Amino acid sequence: MVALTTRLLRASWSSTLRLPKSVFPPRPSPASNAEFLRRCTNDLYAWQQSSHSAPDANGKIPETFTLHDGPPYANGPLHIGHALNKITKDIVCRFQVGQGKQVSYIPGWDCHGLPIEIKALQAQKKDHADTDAVSVREAARELATRTIEEQKAGFKEWAVMGDWDNAYKTMEKGFEIRQLEVFKNMFEKGLIYRQYKPVYWSPSSRTALAEAELEYDENHKSLAAYVRFPVQIPDWMKNDVFKTVEGPINAVIWTTTPWTLPANKAIAVGWDIEYCVVRYDVDGPENTILAASRVEEFQKVLDRPVEIVLSGIRGRNLHFSYENPFQKANGLQTAIQADFVTDSSGTGLVHVAPGHGMDDYHVCNAQGIEAFAPVDDGGAFTKDAFPEQPGLLEGLLVSDIKRTGSSAVLNYLEQHGLLRGKHSYRHKYPIDWRTKQPVIVRATAQWFANVDGIKDGAMKAISKVNFMPETGRPRLESFIQGRSQWCISRQRAWGVPIPALYRILDDGSLEAAMDTEIIQHIIDVIKERGINAWWTDAPGDPAWKPTYLDGQYVRGKDTMDVWFDSGTSWMLLPQKADQPVADVYLEGTDQHRGWFQSSLLTHVATQSFKTDDVKAPYKTLITHGFTLDSEGRKMSKSLGNVVSPSQIMSGELLPPIKRKKQKGVKQEQLKNDVPAFDAMGSDALRLWVASSDYMRDVTIGQPVLISVNQALHKYRVTFKWLLGVFSLPSCPPVFSSFNDLRVDLAGKDDLAADPSQIKNLADKLAFHRLSQVSHDVHQYYSKYEFYKGVNMINKYIANDLSAFYFETLKDRIYTGHKADCQELQKMLGLIFYELLQMLAPICPLLVEEVWDHAPESLKESSVHPARSPWTPLPRADWPTQASLNETQDYVSKINTAIKAAQERLRIDKKMGSSLECAVTLLCGEDRPVDDWFGSHFSKAMGSLSDAYELNEVQLSELAGLFVVSKQEEAWKSATKDWWAEERFAANESREKAEVSDWVVVHKASLEKCPRCWRFQKEQEKELCGRCEDVVKEEGL
Ligand SMILES: [Zn+2]
Repeated sequence: MVALTTRLLRASWSSTLRLPKSVFPPRPSPASNAEFLRRCTNDLYAWQQSSHSAPDANGKIPETFTLHDGPPYANGPLHIGHALNKITKDIVCRFQVGQGKQVSYIPGWDCHGLPIEIKALQAQKKDHADTDAVSVREAARELATRTIEEQKAGFKEWAVMGDWDNAYKTMEKGFEIRQLEVFKNMFEKGLIYRQYKPVYWSPSSRTALAEAELEYDENHKSLAAYVRFPVQIPDWMKNDVFKTVEGPINAVIWTTTPWTLPANKAIAVGWDIEYCVVRYDVDGPENTILAASRVEEFQKVLDRPVEIVLSGIRGRNLHFSYENPFQKANGLQTAIQADFVTDSSGTGLVHVAPGHGMDDYHVCNAQGIEAFAPVDDGGAFTKDAFPEQPGLLEGLLVSDIKRTGSSAVLNYLEQHGLLRGKHSYRHKYPIDWRTKQPVIVRATAQWFANVDGIKDGAMKAISKVNFMPETGRPRLESFIQGRSQWCISRQRAWGVPIPALYRILDDGSLEAAMDTEIIQHIIDVIKERGINAWWTDAPGDPAWKPTYLDGQYVRGKDTMDVWFDSGTSWMLLPQKADQPVADVYLEGTDQHRGWFQSSLLTHVATQSFKTDDVKAPYKTLITHGFTLDSEGRKMSKSLGNVVSPSQIMSGELLPPIKRKKQKGVKQEQLKNDVPAFDAMGSDALRLWVASSDYMRDVTIGQPVLISVNQALHKYRVTFKWLLGVFSLPSCPPVFSSFNDLRVDLAGKDDLAADPSQIKNLADKLAFHRLSQVSHDVHQYYSKYEFYKGVNMINKYIANDLSAFYFETLKDRIYTGHKADCQELQKMLGLIFYELLQMLAPICPLLVEEVWDHAPESLKESSVHPARSPWTPLPRADWPTQASLNETQDYVSKINTAIKAAQERLRIDKKMGSSLECAVTLLCGEDRPVDDWFGSHFSKAMGSLSDAYELNEVQLSELAGLFVVSKQEEAWKSATKDWWAEERFAANESREKAEVSDWVVVHKASLEKCPRCWRFQKEQEKELCGRCEDVVKEEGL
């Protein structure tokens, strides 16, 4: 009686509840960020490097995993593309650490090349032409060094872990020496040569460019022209085939680059094309040779009738000679045969300038016709363009938008009656990828790598590479196939020198000299003096010349293509006997023509590339797309749609946080306490990256950022609740370590092998779902499909945990039996640790912070989730798997139906808490729930019963499962104005049979228990039966 009196006096039972409390904050706190960052980056990286190098407990040496960093360019602030790149790499590395591997990730920077040089010059307000190489190099190095430090700080802030202290830079002496060794190796194999031949030349950058440095203007405007050349027909033809043609004869060509006419060396005809002679009148009668199929078109150009006076001449029988009007001193030039001539455009006769065209060069080279290119580095005609009247063309630009050079050439031809038509012509035309100015083709003496010689080896190496996505393979293959030579010399100062000496000949001209000894000697001097000495030493300094060379030599001024620099970065990695040096290369898709290719070529070139075991430097090649705004547009300053990584971290792109009014707190004070924006830090940036299907182009805008922050908040709320559950003062967890939980819960072996120890249906379903999720997320991560894993985690947390399982648990934890609560803590511990392991590669800072808040005793006896190998709970073939799936399906359908019915009662203002209602499940013909189980539900349950001892137990648990007060059988007597029913089909076969099941939600018949609020209390009792027991048991 005394006890009862005490209880009656109790004002509230809330003090007897187990309410989880945790100080885990709603947002990461800037104050602790640095500490967590250090732990999950530097500390973790160093730890795995050392601990994963030693044999494990079974004597097994851990596998290694190398992700080789494609160096970003050291010339500007970090943008969102950097974040996609670096964070994706970091996720890959962290997942591999979780797989127990020793991971190596050495970040690098690409430091040389034109863009940095230009930027450095701009800063000095100087032009290339009036700056000496030494000061250019100094300014460029200073700029690159500063940029590297800025970028490094940014990468670290994003929690990218790696060997930052040993980051590589292509401007470092060690790197440069290794690169020169690769060059030497290739030279020794005969793969490096020098040639005077046409290359892509950028007048705006004053240097040669490789194909990889070109972009295309799809709508470039050129001046096209029809030009006639008076020709001489050999006498034997004149007197035979041509005997009917009266008067002089011309050949007419069509060109889109009239400025190349001064460099004309031949007119090409097609072997099998049919030609004819037409006659028409322009200031008198004129005879002209052209392809028969082009007569009609030519007539339109002339805008006057033409008459065919001779036809049926095949190109192979067509011979003539003619004079280049700009190069009369050269004498007569001749018609040649060429495969590339077609009669589908122009006139079927092609103007050939071997100094300004690749095809032209090849066909002329075969016939001993020399290339000629009277254009200087800045893209202006030299006096050689028209030696007779140098003033007419010299100094005029050939590739400016005004088409100055072309116009001048055509004016001259027009004045001399040689022009037969001109028009504007729009076509695809190469431009410099940096300056966006037109590029020309121009013959110069350059250094080349022979790609043809190693093409077969490179293709063989590609065939062994895994591509993610697979579309990368044909892309890389086509770039390799389409390339025969690689122009590796650049006429710039900021780079690694081409190790060549030039002999000064008697006439003052220079002759290139390169052999193995010269290269080695130069490498040795660079080792001793540093690479800058190449530019700073006196031009005649004898130290650079091997002693066996006679005569006067100077050092070359060309530097290497920067793709050659970064392409040799695989030299940093330890060689492996039987496999590629790196497991993964991961960069943007544009690198198929850039770094992936130059790495492959230099790597193949230095091996025995004719053997079958030739290897690429990478085992797996992964590419990511570009970052676009939410409307799929490229980000650019002019469009104003640039999103920066720091804006995502600060949350400033999201709507500002609404400040809640609090009593007694002044608005001013509130302003200081509550952040203006929802700043989730680098976790937000990382989760955005991880949520992106990065193998395609990735869009970014407010909607996606809002959902990222919502997901992060959901994670935090979930962890906060779980941390509270592990810290209940009245119910400390009875398990000792998170790592032992699988065994703990199983009672003996790994739970995954035998989940039969879990008795409660909700727990059983929760475990089943967890193992599915863990297994699938692991699979997705293994296939580098992180966004699928994250998507699954998000749905799991929102739907399975937060909206369902945790709801069903609250009553059991807050008010139930202590023993049950402690069992639950084990299940929740398993979920907690598994979630941390799944999130460790994605949000390492969050994981670090959560772990920091875990109860001290558990932390001490458990392994840090980022350091413990992550073995997913297997999706094993338990005999009961199918039944569990089915049960889960039923449960979720019933749940949905109950929620819908409750919602109607709420709208009618009948019901507040769902605990006020009771639910009856009916199937088919008004049978109450027991029968329904008997006939349908228990079919699924039946096969479970052996393993799980179901049926009886489950029925009593259904109320908890759906967070209602009780399953009532007295549904028929329930009052009809407090009643809602919802029909549904419990499974497919019932759906087909058009049998409907339904739930009836009606008023609970018992009274509300003041402790647990369930409507389970008999009228005369103080508490419900269960609470009575709990309170007695625990002496509350
Ligand atoms: Zn109760």
